[in-house]
Amino acid sequence: MTKTVIVGGGISGLATAFHLQECGPRDYTLIESAPRWGGKITSVHEDGFTVEGGPDSFITQKTAAIELCKRLGLEDQLVGSNSGKGATVYIWSGGRLHPMPEGMMLMAPTMVLPFLRTRLISWPGKLRMGMEIFVPRARSDEDESLAGFVRRRLGAEALNKLAGPLMGGIYAADPERLSLKSTFPIFLEMEKKYGSLLRGMMKSVRTRAAHGAKRPPMFMTLRGGLQQLSDALVARLPQGSLRAGCSALAVHRHAGRYRIDLDDGSSLLAEDVVFATPSFVTADLVGQLDPVLAERLRAIRYVSTATVSLGFLRSEVAHPLQGAGFIVPPSEGRRITACSWSSAKFQHRAPEDCVLLRVFIGGALAEELAEQDEAALVHLAREELQAILGIAATPVLAKAYRWPKANPQYDLGHEERVAEIERSLSNLPGLHLAGAAYHGPGIPDCIQSGRKAAQAIAARQARGESAGRSEPSSVCIES
Ligand SMILES: Cc1cc2nc3c(=O)[nH]c(=O)nc-3n(C[C@H](O)[C@H](O)[C@H](O)COP(=O)(O)OP(=O)(O)OC[C@H]3O[C@@H](n4cnc5c(N)ncnc54)[C@H](O)[C@@H]3O)c2cc1C
Repeated sequence: MTKTVIVGGGISGLATAFHLQECGPRDYTLIESAPRWGGKITSVHEDGFTVEGGPDSFITQKTAAIELCKRLGLEDQLVGSNSGKGATVYIWSGGRLHPMPEGMMLMAPTMVLPFLRTRLISWPGKLRMGMEIFVPRARSDEDESLAGFVRRRLGAEALNKLAGPLMGGIYAADPERLSLKSTFPIFLEMEKKYGSLLRGMMKSVRTRAAHGAKRPPMFMTLRGGLQQLSDALVARLPQGSLRAGCSALAVHRHAGRYRIDLDDGSSLLAEDVVFATPSFVTADLVGQLDPVLAERLRAIRYVSTATVSLGFLRSEVAHPLQGAGFIVPPSEGRRITACSWSSAKFQHRAPEDCVLLRVFIGGALAEELAEQDEAALVHLAREELQAILGIAATPVLAKAYRWPKANPQYDLGHEERVAEIERSLSNLPGLHLAGAAYHGPGIPDCIQSGRKAAQAIAARQARGESAGRSEPSSVCIES
């Protein structure tokens, strides 16, 4: 007997199930098409290396992931990213790596001297960024792209060398299409409040200093890799509620409930259904139930990315690798977008005598590069690392992960698209969405989306909206 069906066993679906359980004893079935749980979270241990195929850490500013780790008893497994010099991000520009000037907050400087000293930005570029103080506020509230906003306030060089690769890179996005309102609203708020980002940033730095606020590490991960989180969640869920290796095919209305058809020929009847699947998958599942909702879900674009992890003997890498890694602006004409120095960024990622690097390929501006086979991806990554870091050695470990249509794009108009989807859902009581496509793609956002779906279901069931029936509310009706 199951009241709820959750489709998709990535972090969003697992978090939904866990939080549903935390709201009190619940009947649910979690369906996952792959034979393994965790979705894009996948950590592999090989020859002393810990390799992350998908996400490698989560941001600490949003607290849902840390809170969940603590609830799962993983507190002592949390590892922070290095701070100080160990957190330096480099930018590949003009044939060399430039450290991000100290005090640079994503796109705006908060410290004058390091900014003046950097050779990353030309003097006209620095002057233009300094003039930001005099740029008037935007006249309208219209959704503005990251590129449009940065060009308007800080100039083209700040966009091309800093904001584009750094902020666009987080979303694997084209900065010309990325909605600032849906991704970095803080910059819009700062413009509104202070009339200038530089003024706003300086103020927030001063306030923090005055309060002696010590910043936690910006990112955290788990000692054994992020999969520790999805594994710990699975261990907490009752085995009888979990069905891996089984795909949902479609959802229909049936006798006042929802019928979920599965690829093994069986169906489930449920009062609540959570779709924790990519939005284009959800669109296919609800296509016959509500074609308009399906069309709205399909309007969220996804792009492909790939990661290549390469392990080398430390003695064969001349570069000191002191920092978190580097990003590559698209204007530099290279074939990778970034590289994390994983073993420098986090402890426990490589054996003592080795280093581990993780190269990012693809995204909105070079999707086709990510769609090559694994051997070609490894070859490409090695060529690029040789050109940028001078590493000619043969790797002792090489692993490529392809992520076709894996990164949802928060394009201009995203907020309105999600509002339309939610309006459609309000006509389908009992259907819920969780996942990366709507209110943030990061691990903490996904966990939060699962928590919200679970709370909505618990509240509905408490109000009796789905109760009051004598027969089981979700049953296997075919097999
Ligand atoms: C390369 C890469 C690096 C990233 N790095 C970071 C990072 O460092 N930090 C961070 O916070 N975020 C990162 N992200 C984003 C983050 O990993 C994802 O947004 C998040 O893992 C998505 O989780 P999810 O559960 O919503 O979706 P998924 O993990 O995609 O899970 C959805 C699940 O649904 C299943 N499914 C699909 N169709 C069906 C069906 N018909 N029936 C049943 N099951 C189905 C799939 O098999 C899958 O397991 C990264 C993403 C990528 C691609």
